[in-house]
Amino acid sequence: MQNRRLFFALALLAALAAPAADAQAKKRNLPRPGFNLFSKEQDIELGREFAKEVERQFVVVQNQELTDYVNRIGQRLVEKGELEKYPFFFKVVQEDSINAFALPGGPMYVHTGLLRAVENEGQLAGVLAHELAHVVLRHGTNQASKAQFAQLGALLAGAAIGGGSLAGQLTQLGIGLGMNSVLLKYSRNAESDADLLGAYTMAKAGYNPIEMARFFERLEAERKGKTPKLVEIFTASHPNPGNRVKAIESQLPYMPRGPYNASEGDLKRVQSLVEKLPKVAKPAQTGQGSGPAPLPNAPKPERVPVSQNSRQYRGDGFRIQHPDNWRVSQSQRSVTIAPAEGLVQGHVGYGVILNRATFQRAVNLERDTQTLIDGLAQQNSNLRAIEQPQRITVGNRRALVTKLSSDSPYAGLREIDVLITVDLDNELFYVICVAPLPDYPAFEPVFQQMIRSISFD
Ligand code: ZN
Repeated sequence: MQNRRLFFALALLAALAAPAADAQAKKRNLPRPGFNLFSKEQDIELGREFAKEVERQFVVVQNQELTDYVNRIGQRLVEKGELEKYPFFFKVVQEDSINAFALPGGPMYVHTGLLRAVENEGQLAGVLAHELAHVVLRHGTNQASKAQFAQLGALLAGAAIGGGSLAGQLTQLGIGLGMNSVLLKYSRNAESDADLLGAYTMAKAGYNPIEMARFFERLEAERKGKTPKLVEIFTASHPNPGNRVKAIESQLPYMPRGPYNASEGDLKRVQSLVEKLPKVAKPAQTGQGSGPAPLPNAPKPERVPVSQNSRQYRGDGFRIQHPDNWRVSQSQRSVTIAPAEGLVQGHVGYGVILNRATFQRAVNLERDTQTLIDGLAQQNSNLRAIEQPQRITVGNRRALVTKLSSDSPYAGLREIDVLITVDLDNELFYVICVAPLPDYPAFEPVFQQMIRSISFD
């Protein structure tokens, strides 16, 4: 909506104002970042974690000449385009499809297929400028903020399951760090804004902005043409807002007017380098999402003591009794109660995790439990439900108990994870009781006693 107003305002200016009197006006009318629940720092942190995942999945080209060329163009756009500062970097990945993608906070990856496809440096600069615009306009996290408003609000405010990295927490909401991530899927409005800011950035950096629109229209033709596979990743994540050439042409009077003669090297030579790159095997694709972190594979402790004496823990709005030799640790809103022997490198091997997710609506116990399980499955290795959810009451509240199983942090073992989800009106309170499969029967009475002792204020 904001975008339409912007174009209307610009069109009006185009009609009324003399092109010379616009330096400030046009700057004011450039698109700005929209609604966002993430901080700029969180964009950067997320991009950093996402980049690690990307570099596991793609082959990063090690050719210095190639990488330097792309970096010179990228840096030129950032500096001369006066783009807001982010820790930008540019890498080339060995992929035949025609694509480039920028992660929140600045990392950017250019497919060798794109280097092959562009007709001139301006077109390459155009794709980079468009991607850079997505970064500074923070379209990825804007999109995620809009898609998951209620859950994200709670999570970013500290309602994460078990603490951990921001990316790990986001996977609980189904926001994965893969090529299918919502963070890389833009709306048509975002596309128009990225075109506009990208084109302006190009003009400032000495590239003809029309080259960007021309190249995107070629991709669009390709999509309907003989080799749609080559462009499908780009066109699926950057939906065509329509009339890109016209839209940019109409803005040309408000952009620096050249000369558009920037050149950071010899594109033909760079393209010949691409052809000579050694063929390398692609690392195994892990598909979408960042997937679970590798487990420590630690030896199972010989003895995990359970004291007969209990102690009360008083949390935010609830109380629970636990064996007095188990320790309580808290990370944001997540509370872990476990014996020292039950913790392995940040993983809970034996113990109980309590947490809650806050919604801006009434809890739907069945549906929200399923969403939670889906989220847990993204973060826990081979997690699956082994029994249907059963209705129980916990602290006089409606609750569901669901028996799950996943890989244990102890070498070669599976574990039982009993998930209890409790309806606290607009909060889903949940408890996960964890023990390795062989020991679960021995720990079940301890867990049951703890669950029975829970009361809510
Ligand atoms: Zn785009």
